[in-house]
Amino acid sequence: MNKIEIIPLGGIGEFGMNCMGIRYGDEMIVVDAGMGFPEETPFGVDISIPNFDFLEEYRDDLTAIILTHGHEDHIGALSYILKKYNLPVYGSRFTLSLTEKRLEEFKMLEDVLLHRVKPNDIVKIGSFEIEFIHASHSLVECFSLAIKTPAGTIIHTGDYKIDDTPVIGPPYDLKTLGKYGDEGVLALLGDSTNATVPGRTPSEQAVIPAFREIFDETPGRLFVATFSSSLHRLQIIFDLAHEYGRRVCVLGRSMQKNVEIAEEQGLLKIAYGAMISMGESRSLDEDEICYLVTGSQGENRAALWSMATSGYKGMNIEKGDTVVLSARMIPGNEKGISRLIGHLYKRGANIIEEKRRLVHVSGHASQEDIKIMVETARPKFLIPIHGEYRMLFRHKEYVKNHVAGYSDDNIVLIENGDMLELDQYGARVVAKHDLHRTFIDEESSGEIEYDIVRERKKLAYGGAISLVVTVNKATHQIAGEPQITFQGVAGLDPTNGFAGEARQAISNAIAEMKHDQIANKTVFKENLRIHLKRFVQRKIQSKPVIVTTIVEI
Ligand SMILES: [Zn+2]
Repeated sequence: MNKIEIIPLGGIGEFGMNCMGIRYGDEMIVVDAGMGFPEETPFGVDISIPNFDFLEEYRDDLTAIILTHGHEDHIGALSYILKKYNLPVYGSRFTLSLTEKRLEEFKMLEDVLLHRVKPNDIVKIGSFEIEFIHASHSLVECFSLAIKTPAGTIIHTGDYKIDDTPVIGPPYDLKTLGKYGDEGVLALLGDSTNATVPGRTPSEQAVIPAFREIFDETPGRLFVATFSSSLHRLQIIFDLAHEYGRRVCVLGRSMQKNVEIAEEQGLLKIAYGAMISMGESRSLDEDEICYLVTGSQGENRAALWSMATSGYKGMNIEKGDTVVLSARMIPGNEKGISRLIGHLYKRGANIIEEKRRLVHVSGHASQEDIKIMVETARPKFLIPIHGEYRMLFRHKEYVKNHVAGYSDDNIVLIENGDMLELDQYGARVVAKHDLHRTFIDEESSGEIEYDIVRERKKLAYGGAISLVVTVNKATHQIAGEPQITFQGVAGLDPTNGFAGEARQAISNAIAEMKHDQIANKTVFKENLRIHLKRFVQRKIQSKPVIVTTIVEI
C-alpha cells in the first residue's frame, strides 16, 4: 500500500507563510497558501511566499487547494500558486470572500473554481476524503481538516484554540474530532504557535470586562485598533459601543471591507444606525463616538499611523483621545509599534495596550488546549506545525510530559522542505529540500528573484564600485582613463586617493593584457572585474558589488 507524504513548503520553523503538500499515491492536495513577513530582509522586501517552483515536480499530481481559514498567513499567497497551477480551491464562505477580494485585485477571479464548504461537509477529491471540522480561532468560519486516505487519517488542526464561548459561532467541534479519534487517527498536524504558553487560551469573550471598563471610563473620543480579521473583537466593540451610546465609525480599507463582508453574511450583527461615516462622526460629541481603526501593528500606511502623524483624511489624534491597541505584537513589528506609541503620546493620547489591561487574547491553542486536542484525536503520530522551531520543540516536550503514550518515538519534528513518509508502521523524514522563500515586491506584486535579494544584501553591506573603461571599437585601444566611482563603500571617501590608485592599478593591468584579451568583450570585462576585486580586497576588508562597463567608441 502507498504511504502518505507530508511536505511542508512553509510555516514550519518560522512564523507565517503556512503551506503544506499532502500526497498519497500520485495525488497531492495543498493545505493553505499563506504569505510570510520576513523579519531580517531590510532590502526592500516586506512579503515572501513559499517556493512554489518546488511543486513543479508534482505538477501532474496536484488536485486541489484546501484553505483552513482566511488569515493572510494562510491565504495570502493563493494568487501566486494559482498562477502556476490552476487548481480548484475549497474553503468556508467567509474565507473564500476574503480570497475573492484578493483574486479580483489580480484579475484572476473568473479563472478560478472556488468551492464553498460548510462545517461537517465531506468532500471527496480522488483518494482523499476531507471533512471540514469547525474550529474556533480569532477569525470566524475556520476549519480543522480530517483528511482520510487509504493509508490512514490525518488531522490538520489549522490555527485553533479550544474556545468554549466564542462571540460568533459555536465552540470548537470536539465531537467530530473525537469521532475520528475513536476510528483511529494516523497523524495529527498541530498548531504550535502558543505551545510555550501554559494553561488554556482565554475565550474571545475574556476581553469584555476590560473593554466595559474602558467604555465606562473614557470621557472623550475612543479609538480601538485591532486586526480587521478579528471578528469576535469587532462584534464586542459594536455591542459595547451600542450599550454605551457611542456610534461606530470604521476607518481603514481592510477594516471597512471585512466589516462589510461579515455583516452581509450575517456574521457581524450591527444594530441599525449604529455604524456611521467619518463625515457623520464629526458632528457628534466626543463621548458619542468610537472609531474602529486599522494599524495596530504600527503599519505606516494604516489609518492609525496617519492619524498619529500627518493626519488621516483631515483627522488627527488629539489631546484627551483614548487609543486601545487590541492586538498582539506580531514578531518583527515591535519597532513600528513602539514608534507608533511614541507618536500617539506626543499627541497627548491615553494609550491602553495588552500589557496594561486584558484587551487582547490569543487565537491559538495554549498548552492545555493542545492537551485537549491530542487526547481527543489520539493520533498515532503527532507532528507539530505552525511556528518557529522553539515552539515546535516545546509542543513536543509538553505533550511528551503531559499526555500518556507520547514519546520521542511518535512525536516527529519536521522542517520546511522535509518529506515525511507516513504509514501505520512509522513516520520518517526520507528527504530534505532546501527551499528558499520567494520574495514579493509590494509595489508591483511581482516576484523578486532570490539572486536579486542576495545582490541587494551585498549592496547593503558592501556598497558598490563601478568601473567604466572606454575602448576604440576598431583598434581595441583604450581611450582615455578608466573611470571609477563608488557608493556606500566603508573606508573610502573621495579624498583618500582610492580612485586614483585603483585607476592606476587597472591601467597597469590593461597594459599587461594581450590584444585578444581586450578584443573579446566578455573576457575583458570579467578580467577587469577580477583585477578590481583583488585591488579592493587588498585595500579594504569589505566586499562591495563590482560593476564593470565597457563603452565602445
Ligand atoms: Zn490564523
